[in-house]
Amino acid sequence: MPLSHYLKTFPLPGQPDRRLLFSTRTCSLAIVSAEALATLQDNSASPELTASLARLSMVVADPARERQEMGGYRRELNRLNPNLRVSVILGMACNFACLYCYEGSLKGAAAMSDATADQLVASLLARFRAGKKKRLILDFYGGEPLLYTQRIRSLIERLQPAIKALGGKFEFTLVTNGSLLTRALVEELVPLGLVSVKVTIDGTAANHNRFRPFKDGGGSWEQIVGNLLDCRGLCVITLSGNYTADNYPVFPDLLDALAERGFTPADFCSVQFYPVMQISDQFANPEFTGCCCSNDEPWVHAASLSLREEILRRGHSFPKLSPSPCMVDLDDAFTVDHDGTLYKCVTLIGHPEFACGDIRQGMADGWQQTWCLDHWQDEPGCRDCVYLPLCFGGCRAMAFQRDGHMGRVDCQRTLLDATLEPMLRQDLRYRYA
Ligand code: SF4
Ligand code: SF4
Repeated sequence: MPLSHYLKTFPLPGQPDRRLLFSTRTCSLAIVSAEALATLQDNSASPELTASLARLSMVVADPARERQEMGGYRRELNRLNPNLRVSVILGMACNFACLYCYEGSLKGAAAMSDATADQLVASLLARFRAGKKKRLILDFYGGEPLLYTQRIRSLIERLQPAIKALGGKFEFTLVTNGSLLTRALVEELVPLGLVSVKVTIDGTAANHNRFRPFKDGGGSWEQIVGNLLDCRGLCVITLSGNYTADNYPVFPDLLDALAERGFTPADFCSVQFYPVMQISDQFANPEFTGCCCSNDEPWVHAASLSLREEILRRGHSFPKLSPSPCMVDLDDAFTVDHDGTLYKCVTLIGHPEFACGDIRQGMADGWQQTWCLDHWQDEPGCRDCVYLPLCFGGCRAMAFQRDGHMGRVDCQRTLLDATLEPMLRQDLRYRYA
């Protein structure tokens, strides 16, 4: 059987007779001898080896068909997707004044009204029923979603029993700054479907308090860490943070500070830090610098690898590499703004040119063109690209902020060329010993 088109082969340092194989399609890893790899390349491999690697999609019976299947990946994914996943922007108020907040001047008093909430419940149930879905997952965002706990309660108290009556499962998550996350609240919300909380801390107290202060300028680090200590073990906690070219070296110190407070890696489902994206639209703070316009910037490669190493070295979990289609690619995933407008990405709310319908009428005709769905299919480089399953044309929001439109792909090739091999070596060292 021929090798898969989506196979990368790397040397193993210190082991000249062995090779590391990685499938970008299934994200599986294998180590084989150089000799065995040669037999695979000339199609004379043993049936046992062929069968093992076929199970990992590293060899395939029909490479042309494999390429074709990848072209239809989005369609197949949507056909099999049992979930309806919706990000809900409850309102634009926030008790923080983060220097890089992408919602910037959009923030304010605007919030979801009772009428919009009623319509949201009705339209989610109708869509869940019509799509014969198995699970409804809401991701609550703001502003700060915990300034809207009454609204959260009123939505989930209606949705949870209604979804159960339809034979489905209801879950929700919170994407919160963590300052209002109390034990009592989490204990109340878990039985109602809260499955995970994503909290952002930007490294050390000094750095975090500078970049993510309360609105009155006061530091928020101590309060967030205290809240997380209180909530440990009640639900899944994902720890995140946003770094710049200047401050990323202080992010690992956060993990040490948390360990000193008694946290262990088991307290966090995963830890991941992200480069702050350069926002060029009218809402952003024009004075904020040090962010990235593209993942291609060499400092982003160096920072992401170094932080991943520090996270894994301390025993924390880092999300595994996987083909990860974004909301744009999934038919049953979208963002509902507080006024009921639909978008295909949380970071582009407030941009009327990217609105793609509302909760009363549903998705409007033509949103696929507006969001350049399947735009990678027009790029010859993408059709042949070994990284296609990990990229599918990259991030629309990043492309928009950089180019002012989404027409061009946000190519991940340089980033993956620079980081994939070292990431796999990190995985071998820390995940698979
Ligand atoms: S907590 Fe989130 S919404 Fe609030 S200012 Fe910071 S980044 Fe913006
Ligand atoms: S955008 Fe770049 S990395 Fe992504 S599939 Fe196309 S060529 Fe490959």
